[in-house]
Amino acid sequence: MNDTVKFVLDEERLPKYWYNVVADLPAPPPPALHPATHQPLGPDDLAALFPLSLIEQEMSAEREIEIPGPVRDLYRQWRPSPLYRARRLERELDTPARINFKYEGVSPAGSHKPNTAIPQAFYNKEAGIRRIATETGAGQWGSSLAFAGALFGIDVEVFMVRVSYQQKPYRRALMETWGATCTPSPSERTAAGRAILAQRPNHPGSLGIAISEAVEIAVQRADTHYALGSVLNHVLLHQTVVGLEAIAQLELADDYPDIIVGCTGGGSNFAGIAFPFLGQQLRGGRTVRIIAVEPSACPTLTRGQYAYDYGDTAQLTPLTKMHTLGSTFTPPGFHAGGLRYHGMAPLVSHVQELGLIESRNYHQLACFEAGVLLARTEGILPAPEANHAVRGAIDEALRCKEEGVSRAILFNLCGHGHFDMQAYMDYFAGKLTDQTYDEGELAMALAGLPSVPGV
Ligand SMILES: *Cc1c(COP(=O)(O)O)cnc(C)c1O
Repeated sequence: MNDTVKFVLDEERLPKYWYNVVADLPAPPPPALHPATHQPLGPDDLAALFPLSLIEQEMSAEREIEIPGPVRDLYRQWRPSPLYRARRLERELDTPARINFKYEGVSPAGSHKPNTAIPQAFYNKEAGIRRIATETGAGQWGSSLAFAGALFGIDVEVFMVRVSYQQKPYRRALMETWGATCTPSPSERTAAGRAILAQRPNHPGSLGIAISEAVEIAVQRADTHYALGSVLNHVLLHQTVVGLEAIAQLELADDYPDIIVGCTGGGSNFAGIAFPFLGQQLRGGRTVRIIAVEPSACPTLTRGQYAYDYGDTAQLTPLTKMHTLGSTFTPPGFHAGGLRYHGMAPLVSHVQELGLIESRNYHQLACFEAGVLLARTEGILPAPEANHAVRGAIDEALRCKEEGVSRAILFNLCGHGHFDMQAYMDYFAGKLTDQTYDEGELAMALAGLPSVPGV
């Protein structure tokens, strides 16, 4: 038998619908609230930022939402993404576990993010939008939206967290190649950016600040919208194409996961692989252990508070109930830039509150060690973010060995690390350390959570 098995799907097995977990949850998620009135958000409140079709998806409780034909056509360039059985890794670990992983690094941008960038650009194009402003952490989302913008003839303006802008010049070059403009954030271009720079001229930036800047740009012009690459319900919805494919692929392999592992920044790739399986469980199918893995330096699900908070630092966005470290929290500049967000997807937070998933955190050295082991056995070099999922999956496989049980583990290898070689070089040179966040800053950020009367 092959050491690595790639399962392909026939045309008729490719997902034609995204899966909306809200339809199957025992309790609906708490509503998003208007930032000023604290009343439940209505569709009109979002109309300056998103096209109506995406707003409807954001608020939908329908189980299946059709993937538009043009989006499916574009997905076909790299979808279905491969599902690999990691036999060489299993042998190296000497584990009875069956380790499968879905590999999202095969997209043109190198991660799962085009799964939502393409439909978002599609719906905006349909609504007559000509420009989209957005933020990016490590550059994965910015480059994915730049790619989608190029396909649909939409101008893309990216605010990139300054520390990543400096660490990852090639991500910026990739965005510019696809025709986007890229500005380090905080910047002088917006009131939100100028306010931050006035306080701290060398501010490393954060996703929360970059979101404020992008939203500020988006609301200034009628032909400009905003797009977010994670956190929101419609983003998680689009990512379920990953889990839906995995269900069909594992069916061909005659297997079903006992354990699913994903890394969580804002929660979208994790939800994408896990929610379709969770839905089967909620409809009477097999129970799956679902594990979210996050960085110890930004431990949103494991240390954050479940509370209403803003999605950005300038407090322009709606309030959503989520696990949060506080919207003013700035995590240390560790290398998994895509995981440096103060909040978590409200839907992922909600399913954790319902006891349907678990979460844990790891420091970066243990994650790089896992990523290098994956590269040396399976050949694929993961993004630093994805290394968290690899670590989680390896630890579960080692537990199977200890307990002498064969369980099926499925993890999401959400992106390759080809633009992150500096991080690997630093790791090999012994320059990476396990950074911790500032407890005082966390306490202060949590103390600053907005008080929302009546909830
Ligand atoms: C953006 C990104 C993440 C974090 O975002 P999620 O919404 O939590 O998936 C993780 N890994 C990679 C490769 C990313 O590009």
